[in-house]
Amino acid sequence: CGIFGIFNVEHAEKYAFYGIYALQHRGQESVGIAVSDYERLRVVKKPGLVLEALTAKDMEHLKGSIAIAHVRYSTSGDSTEINAQPLIRETSLGQVALVHNGNLVNYKTLRSSLQEKGFNFYHTSDSELFLALLDAGEYVPEHIKVHPEDAKIMPKVFYALHQVKGAYSLIYMFKDRLIVARDPYGFRPLLIGRSKNAILFASESCAFDILGAELWREVKPGEVIVVDKKGMRTYQLFRQEKKAMCIFEFVYFSKPEVFLFGDWAYRVRKAMGMALAKEDDVDADIVVPVPDSGVVPAIGYSQEKGIPLEFGIIRNHYIGRSFIEPTQELRNIKVLMKLNPNRAVLEGKRVIVIDDSLVRGTTSKKIVSMLRKAGAKEIHLRIASPPVIGPCYYGIDTPTKEELIASRLSIEDIRQFIGADSLRYLSLEGLKSCVKNPQDFCDACFSGVYPVEYEDKALRMR
Ligand code: 5GP
Ligand code: SF4
Ligand code: MG
Repeated sequence: CGIFGIFNVEHAEKYAFYGIYALQHRGQESVGIAVSDYERLRVVKKPGLVLEALTAKDMEHLKGSIAIAHVRYSTSGDSTEINAQPLIRETSLGQVALVHNGNLVNYKTLRSSLQEKGFNFYHTSDSELFLALLDAGEYVPEHIKVHPEDAKIMPKVFYALHQVKGAYSLIYMFKDRLIVARDPYGFRPLLIGRSKNAILFASESCAFDILGAELWREVKPGEVIVVDKKGMRTYQLFRQEKKAMCIFEFVYFSKPEVFLFGDWAYRVRKAMGMALAKEDDVDADIVVPVPDSGVVPAIGYSQEKGIPLEFGIIRNHYIGRSFIEPTQELRNIKVLMKLNPNRAVLEGKRVIVIDDSLVRGTTSKKIVSMLRKAGAKEIHLRIASPPVIGPCYYGIDTPTKEELIASRLSIEDIRQFIGADSLRYLSLEGLKSCVKNPQDFCDACFSGVYPVEYEDKALRMR
């Protein structure tokens, strides 16, 4: 998912619209914006893409100086409209809205214990807990001194955040303030931007670019920040050493031009292609990226190897990301609609095809047969990340183990299934060598080493 927030600017709803539009790649199932005019909150949420879903009439309805926004793809809960965000709830602190990127690992346990205490739930997504928990207790850890301005709200927020386990980058919107938080591991990104008189928050820095704001800094893992008319106050709620920032954000999820986790995604992604080339001994005539996600690693690979890069596969720009379609059949059709071979460069060539990741194998299988039909003589598939062997419990949609081809088949069997002449993945060590502080990253879907235990195994809903 992608989240965005902006504090104190006229027509905050418009900024939220463009800000969340810049994060469209992080979720295409639904979009929502909530605003506050300092008196009450309003929210609009719709299934579909930002530009298509939100009409002028919707925007009319949303007028305010504070706004939060969300684009969703489901990792927990049904992908129905009811789970679209921002979620909004009447609490003892008044109306509160919430946007959340991540996934909790103790949702089931917490939800049923709250239900036993008489709490009602209106959604089936883990994110609702952040709102419900505001009325479940108060807590201030010893090392924290709460600013008088925050005396009413923060003990409740701290309590909520102390109950949940797992991945969250989130923004609460109260009628007069925003409160943002990032889990102690820092699984998902969250950045702070500023412009002349507004403070902004976003999952990726491209949302600031589009609004002419500048990137200020990242919200730190375990940090909670309040912004209201009096200014900005920050609390380091969690002080644990262990970090687990999602390395898959660099592999695939984020846009290439953004800054997150203390680095430029482009630099890291290109390094992955270079590392892959260093581990590889195949010879070929051209390097062909699978657009768009294979482009940056392919540049790195091509430069490292000295084999020319050619656009042997051309993408239709009116189609979104193929992986996000809910069924296999829809994903198949979408791949064919999305990618087309470029015979002018493929005919008679030995081709190294680069993609960022291989998850279910759908994309690669189609691509290999497409390239063969278009006249490629040899097809060597190279993947700029290791085999995905386990699901993600922290907010990326790699749902069940059975659907992950590398959890069932050996690399040679995958090669045969896909129909390539050879297949090679970047090694786990190779991947880790591309980020600055590998010990601060989660790589569980590649390594099988999970930094936070998944407590809700039985519940696992798509
Ligand atoms: P496959 O076809 O093997 O299932 O998926 C691999 C392709 O899907 C790659 O081109 C990769 O860029 C893309 N991909 C990998 N992970 C994700 C994900 O979590 N979400 C989306 N939307 N696409 C993904
Ligand atoms: Fe990211 Fe994979 Fe860890 Fe999930 S399991 S947070 S996708 S690295
Ligand atoms: Mg791709």
